[in-house]
Amino acid sequence: MIGIFGGTFDPVHYGHLRPAREAKAMLGLDHLFMVPAADPPHRQPPVASATQRRDMLALALKEFSELELDERELKRGGASYTVDTLREYREQYDDVSLALLMGTDAFDDIESWHQWQCLPELAHLVVLRRPGLVPKQLPGWAQARTCATPRTLEQSPAGKIYFQPVAPQPVSATVIRRNLATGESVDDMLPSPVLDYINANHIYIE
Ligand code: ATP
Repeated sequence: MIGIFGGTFDPVHYGHLRPAREAKAMLGLDHLFMVPAADPPHRQPPVASATQRRDMLALALKEFSELELDERELKRGGASYTVDTLREYREQYDDVSLALLMGTDAFDDIESWHQWQCLPELAHLVVLRRPGLVPKQLPGWAQARTCATPRTLEQSPAGKIYFQPVAPQPVSATVIRRNLATGESVDDMLPSPVLDYINANHIYIE
């Protein structure tokens, strides 16, 4: 099974990296691709440039070497629609099981994504718990697709939803950017080579 973890990664932090690592092991993924978005259509534009976000992710993956960087959305340019990315993966991997990983906040918002109904047709959805959020009542379409064990995901190329328990990581990019702007500590929130890059390039520091 192939995993895909998209995001703005503005900047990448342990709330992305540790749950991704854990999920890769628990789901037995052959690959887990981290896919930085070029121009996320449903959020504020990132503060760091696409190149900086890519560079920070590449630095982080030196420590998390079981995760792989996939630059396809940056190369494609324009609005990064997850549905387009999944269609590319589906073409590339034929009938292999695909798992789109996301945090609970992203999943709660999924019905606002471009052509969202196509997403579970193209990949399984794997939801990683994000601390501090009260779980929402699942809509009917999601209840019908939810499965209890990750083994079920292997049995079809797409279509299921699995809630993967992971150790909670109370880290967010918003807090990191705010702390950097106000001079507060971001220690233990992200790998030190990423912090060194942020300082060297004066990103997020007003
Ligand atoms: P912000 O903190 O500003 O909301 P973000 O980290 O949520 O930023 P992205 O980089 O787009 O923004 O997130 C990529 C993915 O990582 C999303 O699916 C998000 O839900 C998930 N994610 C982010 N932080 C955590 C966390 N602490 N635990 C679990 N998942 C997370």
